[in-house]
Amino acid sequence: MKRREFVGGLAATAGLAGCAKSEGECSPDASTTSFEWSCVTSWPPKFPGLGMAVENLADRLERASGGRLKIKVYGGGELVPAFEVFDAVSRGAVEMGHDASYYHKGKVDAAQFFTAIPFGLNYMELNAWLHYGGGLELWRELYEPFNLMPFPCGNTGVQMGGWFNKEINSIDDLKGLKMRIPGLGGEVLRRAGGTPITLPGAEIFTSLQTGAIDATEWVGPYNDVSFGLHKAARYYYYPGWQEPGPGLECIINRDAWKSLPADLQALVEITCQSISVDMAAEYTNGNANSLQQLMADPKVELRAFPDEVLQHLKSITAEVVAEMMARDPAANKIGEAFYEYLEKQEVNSRISEKAYLDTRIG
Ligand code: CA
Repeated sequence: MKRREFVGGLAATAGLAGCAKSEGECSPDASTTSFEWSCVTSWPPKFPGLGMAVENLADRLERASGGRLKIKVYGGGELVPAFEVFDAVSRGAVEMGHDASYYHKGKVDAAQFFTAIPFGLNYMELNAWLHYGGGLELWRELYEPFNLMPFPCGNTGVQMGGWFNKEINSIDDLKGLKMRIPGLGGEVLRRAGGTPITLPGAEIFTSLQTGAIDATEWVGPYNDVSFGLHKAARYYYYPGWQEPGPGLECIINRDAWKSLPADLQALVEITCQSISVDMAAEYTNGNANSLQQLMADPKVELRAFPDEVLQHLKSITAEVVAEMMARDPAANKIGEAFYEYLEKQEVNSRISEKAYLDTRIG
């Protein structure tokens, strides 16, 4: 029943928007109906990067549609709890949501492949797989039973390993480590002897400062500085093996999607793609600026994870993913496609991006 609630939000304002020229130059269906949608998110309201991406999406859609598609954005917890975006859009309580597909772990395990897998695809490779390598078709098939249409909509680029108040010099240092790290990365840490903890963004700083946790990953310099994490921990480890280029999703209830005329559907597709490009640029720029600030701070020590630690985490990741694929046919199908693509891109990345960056930076 609730699936139909959104229809109340469809405002038929015939004649107010659209064709300014003589009749017949544009289709009445496409130009005279306007839509007012609600979009729920997992982010703190207007949070730099993550939260602003969806504000930008709403702003661009309204401007580019001449006001025919208006989206009201709600921060996590304002309309529905931060981790209930998927359910709210699926049942039609709202038309749209913006979050990360790996939050649906436990409900739709296979969805994790579309955000990030530890030691998986980076931003460029994920974008390539989704838009040209068959990934998006698999994603839409996975979400169809939930009455949802997913759109890639944002990517933070490679993250950081996180903030630590304990040094990580060997595999043994992972034992007993209490770390805020969600998803598959958390499961990998657990098997390495650590204690993964899931905390919403707003609780991370205090938990780290009071010693309730020894370490946390969040995003990267740009977002981590805005949370003040450098004031609560000394060691800043890289690279972000757990999230090599996580992509965000815009999800739309399929009934709401079908109610849009073709031109607004096209506009949604194009605008979501524009947000992915834009957000990657915003993070690349913001990370470089914030990293300068962190490197100038005498209380912060930038550190690389030892290679033996990364290799250990990588081998555990292979076990964790293999188990997920073995127990879930959808994860198996998507995982096989994902890793076939990853292997192909490794051959390509070795002689292109990696070779170039090794040459330029060393
Ligand atoms: Ca993260």
